[in-house]
Amino acid sequence: MTDSKEIEKRKELMRKVRDDVVGLKSSPLYKFRIENKSLPVIGDGSHFAKIMLIGEAPGKNEAKTGKPFCGSSGRILDQLLEHSGMKREDVYITNIVKDRPPKNRDPLKEEIELYGPFLDRQIEIIKPTVIATLGRYAMGYIMAKFGMDDKLEIISKMHGRVFETNLPYGKVHVVPLYHPAVAVYNSHTKDLLKEDFNLLKTLI
Ligand code: URA
Repeated sequence: MTDSKEIEKRKELMRKVRDDVVGLKSSPLYKFRIENKSLPVIGDGSHFAKIMLIGEAPGKNEAKTGKPFCGSSGRILDQLLEHSGMKREDVYITNIVKDRPPKNRDPLKEEIELYGPFLDRQIEIIKPTVIATLGRYAMGYIMAKFGMDDKLEIISKMHGRVFETNLPYGKVHVVPLYHPAVAVYNSHTKDLLKEDFNLLKTLI
Protein backbone atom coordinates (compact mmCIF):
# COMPACT_ATOMS: atom_id res chain seq x y z
CA MET A 1 0.00 0.00 0.00
CA THR A 2 1.58 3.27 -1.05
CA ASP A 3 -1.28 5.65 -0.36
CA SER A 4 -0.46 9.04 1.05
CA LYS A 5 -1.41 7.99 4.60
CA GLU A 6 1.07 5.10 4.52
CA ILE A 7 3.78 7.32 3.00
CA GLU A 8 3.30 9.84 5.83
CA LYS A 9 3.19 7.08 8.46
CA ARG A 10 6.51 5.57 7.36
CA LYS A 11 8.12 9.01 7.10
CA GLU A 12 7.01 9.84 10.63
CA LEU A 13 8.22 6.50 12.05
CA MET A 14 11.59 6.96 10.36
CA ARG A 15 11.79 10.52 11.68
CA LYS A 16 11.28 9.08 15.16
CA VAL A 17 14.12 6.59 14.58
CA ARG A 18 16.34 9.50 13.54
CA ASP A 19 15.36 11.61 16.56
CA ASP A 20 16.04 8.71 18.92
CA VAL A 21 19.49 8.11 17.38
CA VAL A 22 20.30 11.84 17.45
CA GLY A 23 19.57 11.89 21.18
CA LEU A 24 21.39 8.65 22.00
CA LYS A 25 23.66 10.08 24.68
CA SER A 26 24.16 6.63 26.20
CA SER A 27 26.16 5.59 23.11
CA PRO A 28 29.93 5.29 23.54
CA LEU A 29 30.12 6.93 20.08
CA TYR A 30 28.01 9.97 21.03
CA LYS A 31 30.88 12.03 22.45
CA PHE A 32 33.03 11.32 19.38
CA ARG A 33 30.12 12.44 17.17
CA ILE A 34 29.72 15.75 19.02
CA GLU A 35 33.46 16.45 19.27
CA ASN A 36 33.89 15.89 15.54
CA LYS A 37 30.72 17.75 14.57
CA SER A 38 29.66 14.53 12.87
CA LEU A 39 26.20 13.41 11.90
CA PRO A 40 24.58 10.09 12.67
CA VAL A 41 23.73 8.18 9.51
CA ILE A 42 20.22 6.81 9.52
CA GLY A 43 19.64 5.55 5.99
CA ASP A 44 18.95 6.52 2.42
CA GLY A 45 16.45 5.45 -0.21
CA SER A 46 12.83 4.48 -0.52
CA HIS A 47 10.70 3.72 2.54
CA PHE A 48 8.90 1.28 0.23
CA ALA A 49 12.01 -0.48 -1.10
CA LYS A 50 11.76 -4.21 -1.60
CA ILE A 51 15.53 -4.53 -1.15
CA MET A 52 17.33 -3.33 1.97
CA LEU A 53 21.13 -3.21 2.00
CA ILE A 54 22.79 -3.20 5.41
CA GLY A 55 26.40 -2.17 5.97
CA GLU A 56 28.48 -1.88 9.13
CA ALA A 57 28.91 1.69 10.29
CA PRO A 58 29.51 5.12 8.77
CA GLY A 59 33.01 6.21 7.82
CA LYS A 60 34.41 9.74 7.71
CA ASN A 61 32.57 10.87 4.56
CA GLU A 62 29.30 9.42 5.75
CA ALA A 63 29.56 11.09 9.17
CA LYS A 64 30.24 14.39 7.42
CA THR A 65 27.25 14.19 5.09
CA GLY A 66 24.81 12.01 7.06
CA LYS A 67 24.48 9.75 4.01
CA PRO A 68 25.45 6.04 3.99
CA PHE A 69 28.06 4.75 1.55
CA CYS A 70 29.25 8.02 0.02
CA GLY A 71 33.03 7.38 0.14
CA SER A 72 35.15 4.81 -1.68
CA SER A 73 32.92 1.84 -0.74
CA GLY A 74 29.95 3.95 -1.83
CA ARG A 75 31.45 4.38 -5.28
CA ILE A 76 31.74 0.60 -5.58
CA LEU A 77 28.20 0.18 -4.28
CA ASP A 78 26.89 2.65 -6.88
CA GLN A 79 28.69 0.71 -9.63
CA LEU A 80 27.19 -2.56 -8.39
CA LEU A 81 23.70 -1.10 -8.30
CA GLU A 82 24.11 0.35 -11.78
CA HIS A 83 25.53 -2.92 -13.11
CA SER A 84 22.44 -4.78 -11.91
CA GLY A 85 20.06 -2.12 -13.25
CA MET A 86 19.13 -0.60 -9.91
CA LYS A 87 19.28 2.92 -8.54
CA ARG A 88 19.82 4.13 -5.00
CA GLU A 89 16.21 5.34 -4.96
CA ASP A 90 15.01 1.77 -5.67
CA VAL A 91 16.59 0.31 -2.53
CA TYR A 92 17.07 1.35 1.09
CA ILE A 93 20.64 1.57 2.33
CA THR A 94 21.57 1.66 5.99
CA ASN A 95 24.05 0.34 8.55
CA ILE A 96 23.77 -1.54 11.83
CA VAL A 97 25.72 1.08 13.76
CA LYS A 98 24.50 4.62 13.04
CA ASP A 99 27.49 6.60 14.36
CA ARG A 100 31.06 6.55 13.07
CA PRO A 101 33.49 4.56 15.21
CA PRO A 102 36.84 6.34 15.85
CA LYS A 103 39.49 5.67 13.19
CA ASN A 104 36.85 3.70 11.27
CA ARG A 105 37.55 0.67 13.43
CA ASP A 106 35.21 -2.32 13.32
CA PRO A 107 32.05 -1.93 15.37
CA LEU A 108 32.19 -3.41 18.87
CA LYS A 109 29.74 -6.00 20.16
CA GLU A 110 28.18 -3.53 22.60
CA GLU A 111 27.76 -0.94 19.83
CA ILE A 112 26.00 -3.49 17.64
CA GLU A 113 23.75 -4.40 20.59
CA LEU A 114 22.96 -0.75 21.26
CA TYR A 115 22.20 0.27 17.68
CA GLY A 116 20.66 -3.03 16.49
CA PRO A 117 17.14 -2.16 17.71
CA PHE A 118 17.10 0.94 15.45
CA LEU A 119 17.83 -1.29 12.48
CA ASP A 120 15.08 -3.65 13.66
CA ARG A 121 12.65 -0.71 13.65
CA GLN A 122 13.74 0.27 10.14
CA ILE A 123 13.07 -3.27 8.92
CA GLU A 124 9.60 -3.13 10.51
CA ILE A 125 8.88 0.23 8.85
CA ILE A 126 10.11 -0.64 5.34
CA LYS A 127 9.14 -4.32 5.30
CA PRO A 128 11.73 -5.35 2.68
CA THR A 129 11.33 -8.75 1.07
CA VAL A 130 15.08 -8.98 0.39
CA ILE A 131 17.65 -8.13 3.05
CA ALA A 132 21.21 -8.09 1.72
CA THR A 133 23.93 -7.77 4.32
CA LEU A 134 27.22 -6.12 3.36
CA GLY A 135 30.10 -7.67 5.28
CA ARG A 136 30.39 -10.03 8.19
CA TYR A 137 29.03 -7.78 10.96
CA ALA A 138 25.68 -7.15 9.27
CA MET A 139 25.57 -10.83 8.26
CA GLY A 140 26.16 -11.97 11.85
CA TYR A 141 23.56 -9.59 13.25
CA ILE A 142 20.82 -10.44 10.77
CA MET A 143 21.39 -14.20 10.81
CA ALA A 144 21.22 -14.17 14.63
CA LYS A 145 18.19 -11.85 14.68
CA PHE A 146 16.27 -14.31 12.52
CA GLY A 147 17.42 -17.36 14.50
CA MET A 148 19.71 -18.63 11.76
CA ASP A 149 23.04 -18.26 13.54
CA ASP A 150 23.50 -22.04 13.37
CA LYS A 151 23.87 -21.59 9.59
CA LEU A 152 26.66 -19.03 9.90
CA GLU A 153 29.93 -19.78 8.15
CA ILE A 154 32.75 -17.57 6.93
CA ILE A 155 31.63 -14.99 4.42
CA SER A 156 33.43 -16.64 1.48
CA LYS A 157 31.06 -19.60 2.00
CA MET A 158 27.97 -17.51 2.74
CA HIS A 159 28.01 -14.81 0.05
CA GLY A 160 25.35 -15.13 -2.63
CA ARG A 161 23.40 -17.79 -0.76
CA VAL A 162 19.72 -17.18 -0.10
CA PHE A 163 18.20 -17.85 3.31
CA GLU A 164 14.48 -17.63 3.92
CA THR A 165 12.70 -16.40 7.00
CA ASN A 166 9.10 -15.56 7.78
CA LEU A 167 8.33 -12.22 9.37
CA PRO A 168 4.89 -10.95 10.47
CA TYR A 169 4.55 -9.11 7.13
CA GLY A 170 5.63 -12.06 4.98
CA LYS A 171 8.53 -14.08 3.59
CA VAL A 172 11.95 -12.47 3.51
CA HIS A 173 15.05 -13.55 1.61
CA VAL A 174 18.30 -12.88 3.44
CA VAL A 175 21.35 -12.71 1.20
CA PRO A 176 24.81 -12.23 2.73
CA LEU A 177 27.20 -10.32 0.47
CA TYR A 178 30.79 -9.20 0.70
CA HIS A 179 31.33 -5.65 1.92
CA PRO A 180 31.99 -3.35 -1.09
CA ALA A 181 35.17 -2.06 0.64
CA VAL A 182 36.75 -5.47 -0.03
CA ALA A 183 36.25 -4.88 -3.75
CA VAL A 184 38.05 -1.52 -3.82
CA TYR A 185 41.39 -3.28 -4.44
CA ASN A 186 40.21 -6.78 -5.31
CA SER A 187 38.70 -7.25 -8.75
CA HIS A 188 37.87 -10.92 -8.09
CA THR A 189 35.65 -9.93 -5.14
CA LYS A 190 34.12 -7.22 -7.31
CA ASP A 191 33.15 -9.83 -9.90
CA LEU A 192 31.60 -11.98 -7.17
CA LEU A 193 29.72 -8.95 -5.86
CA LYS A 194 28.43 -8.19 -9.37
CA GLU A 195 27.04 -11.72 -9.67
CA ASP A 196 25.48 -11.51 -6.21
CA PHE A 197 23.90 -8.13 -6.94
CA ASN A 198 22.36 -9.55 -10.11
CA LEU A 199 20.77 -12.23 -7.94
CA LEU A 200 19.06 -9.69 -5.68
CA LYS A 201 16.77 -8.40 -8.40
CA THR A 202 15.60 -11.89 -9.27
CA LEU A 203 14.29 -12.33 -5.73
CA ILE A 204 11.75 -9.49 -5.73
N1 URA B 1 31.01 1.26 5.16
C1 URA B 1 29.82 0.89 5.73
O1 URA B 1 29.69 -0.23 6.20
N2 URA B 1 28.84 1.78 5.74
C2 URA B 1 28.93 3.00 5.22
O2 URA B 1 27.95 3.75 5.27
C3 URA B 1 30.16 3.36 4.64
C4 URA B 1 31.18 2.48 4.61
